[in-house]
Amino acid sequence: MDHLVRATAANGQIRAFAVTTKELTEYARNIHSLSPVMTAAFGRLMAAGIMMGSMLKGEEDLITVKIQGDGPAKGALITADSKGNVKGYVNNPNVDLPPKANGHFDVGGAYGNGFLTVIKDMGLKEPYSGTTNLVTGEVAEDITYYLATSEQVPSSVGLGVLVDTDLTVRQAGGFIVQLMPFAEEETISKLEKKLGQIMSVTEMLDAGIDPKGMLMEILGDQDVIFTEEIPCSYTCNCSKERFRKGIISIGRRDIEELIAENEPIETVCHFCNSKYTFEIDKLKELLNEI
Ligand code: ZN
Repeated sequence: MDHLVRATAANGQIRAFAVTTKELTEYARNIHSLSPVMTAAFGRLMAAGIMMGSMLKGEEDLITVKIQGDGPAKGALITADSKGNVKGYVNNPNVDLPPKANGHFDVGGAYGNGFLTVIKDMGLKEPYSGTTNLVTGEVAEDITYYLATSEQVPSSVGLGVLVDTDLTVRQAGGFIVQLMPFAEEETISKLEKKLGQIMSVTEMLDAGIDPKGMLMEILGDQDVIFTEEIPCSYTCNCSKERFRKGIISIGRRDIEELIAENEPIETVCHFCNSKYTFEIDKLKELLNEI
């Protein structure tokens, strides 16, 4: 089952997160008809987003992580909350690129050069927003760079998606390990040494190592304390009511034009592909609410 674990280590000098996201990545692959490289590109972003969501403090807080690039994928966006729920979409689900020389998906080639933007909605008037340049477009390095420069938290990020021969998701997940400002030199060097020795995220998951096990691989010699374990899922909270409000917000003139075309309109949710149809009579009723 997809889940996230959270831990501290070395007397609070380190905080760490790890997730397995195989099922929700497979779900996203299906609803968005993602090609293998886009399954990897989007799966990595969702795994990172769930962990960054769990760093939020408030129950109702939301984080959006958006990539905009000049590669064929053009970009992708995810929104996550602090409770393990994520949803999102990619701009071009069909990208097909040859693998890189090392056999890995060319996620960097799919996203290309561009920007990573993080928006945190914490119930304040203005959401917090930070943008950094993409470093490689491979997602993990881009998130690492964002966390280091925009949030000033030195972090090590590992993300991975393994696609099976039948194109279903075989493994997906990741970790984020962060150093607190008072981290001592010894803690840092132990961590760096371990990070240089561990298997990749997908190798660990494929060897049956779960998120707790991943953090033990990295932090096992630094007094790990697990503080939270929560399920994760792909969740969309759209509804016909939400789309009804959306149509009202386009204004009387545009609704009158839709009515003049005399065809029911079908709205589609970007996040989950649910379709909601509004008949002409319904559109006429909406005019009374403006
Ligand atoms: Zn939806």
